[in-house]
Amino acid sequence: MTQPLRVAVVGAGWAGLAAAVEATDQGHAVSLYEMAHHPGGRARSASHKERLLDNGQHILIGAYRDTLALMQRVGVDTAAVLHRQALALVAPDGSGLRLPCGHAALSFVRGVLAWSDVPLADRLKLLSLAVRWRWQGFRCDPSLTVAELARSCPASVFEQLLDPLCVAALNTPANRASAQVLLTVLRDALFSAPGAADLLLPRAPLDALLPQPALTWLLQHGARWQAGHRVQQLQRHTDHVWLVDGTPFDHVVLACTAAEAARLLAPWAPAWAATAAGFCYEPIVTVWVQAPGMRWPQPMTSFPARNGVAAPAQFGFDLGQLGGEAGLFTLVISGARAWTEQGQSTIVKAVLQQWAAAFGTAESASVLAVRTEKRATFACLPQLPRPSAQPLPHLSVAGDHVQGPYPATLEGAVRSGLSAARSIARPQA
Ligand SMILES: Cc1cc2nc3c(=O)[nH]c(=O)nc-3n(C[C@H](O)[C@H](O)[C@H](O)COP(=O)(O)OP(=O)(O)OC[C@H]3O[C@@H](n4cnc5c(N)ncnc54)[C@H](O)[C@@H]3O)c2cc1C
Repeated sequence: MTQPLRVAVVGAGWAGLAAAVEATDQGHAVSLYEMAHHPGGRARSASHKERLLDNGQHILIGAYRDTLALMQRVGVDTAAVLHRQALALVAPDGSGLRLPCGHAALSFVRGVLAWSDVPLADRLKLLSLAVRWRWQGFRCDPSLTVAELARSCPASVFEQLLDPLCVAALNTPANRASAQVLLTVLRDALFSAPGAADLLLPRAPLDALLPQPALTWLLQHGARWQAGHRVQQLQRHTDHVWLVDGTPFDHVVLACTAAEAARLLAPWAPAWAATAAGFCYEPIVTVWVQAPGMRWPQPMTSFPARNGVAAPAQFGFDLGQLGGEAGLFTLVISGARAWTEQGQSTIVKAVLQQWAAAFGTAESASVLAVRTEKRATFACLPQLPRPSAQPLPHLSVAGDHVQGPYPATLEGAVRSGLSAARSIARPQA
């Protein structure tokens, strides 16, 4: 490359960090704008009463190929910061599905056949459904919800497998979630490469997984870090140059939230902005529970609905087994709209009741912190229109909301960031 292009990346969430690293690696002169004073966006750590807590419990899976590669590219030892285990959705009473290691589809078949808490007829029905989905190329009528897709699925399998996977991956209740997106996730996680379904549980604060190492890498490679700068305005300077709050750039990557991208692009791409502004959002609530002296049999526990009755939190994590404080746990309520509408004190009460029902001891458990992310992810509805990644020349968009096959995830964000940076092109002479 003769002359580096001037590239602005707006937003330093995981999408913006991926775009900035990739554009810097390509030799461009990158300025990274972030309205907060730290990188990471929705997947970051923040202090809480002298402790560093994440803004919400996150999990990664083995299929997060591009995220893992990016972490390694900026110097992160992924084996040290992530606890890898085969997929296991194990309830407090020890029941649940456990997949053995090995060939993806064979592991699934072996795990399902060994799932003795579920009647054999239900297990065989699940396997026949999986064969049908595979036969159909993991495609379905795009207007279907997960609940509609699973109509012929036995209640035991729905409650203990499909419903938890749906809410964990799509953060949207099954009666509203897109069946097509869930099938895509199942294909890539359960039926592709060996290890793709493995759970990768953070053993370090989220900041150490990507945001801080990526920022350090960017600064070492000459990128400009514009922290605490909320970009107010985009203007066209010439056909080939954009002004970001008055500063000229040859290419802009908008990696801010969908709502902010819609605001910035409304004068230049009104139809695009209307799509980006049109999302509904789903909250996620993370509750930190302290229970001194307690240790679960495994780092992650599943809390499936029983006989149609759902507890607030679907999953819990024993942080003491994940490089954190012994006796500290996170309980995660995904697709949490019904709970956030009832207020935090109701949530705390319901989680402590759930704890008592699951572990029989509520006296020694107390709630340390509650974090509610009201706009945790977009609601992953059937046939959801999502904004394109290339609305205008010399401008690309990145973020978990951009058009793509996946729900709002770290991997979706990282892939969109990499692809936005790879679309940077020199103007035609
Ligand atoms: C509680 C919670 C739990 C989650 N759990 C998981 C999980 O287990 N697994 C998983 O894969 N995903 C999970 N997710 C989703 C995941 O966090 C997101 O998909 C991902 O972080 C989105 O990254 P992003 O870069 O697209 O957006 P963001 O993280 O939202 O980044 C956008 C950035 O742009 C900045 N910005 C906005 N406007 C401007 C402006 N005008 N100028 C400058 N900067 C601006 C923002 O401050 C922000 O830093 C979870 C999300 C939450 C909230």
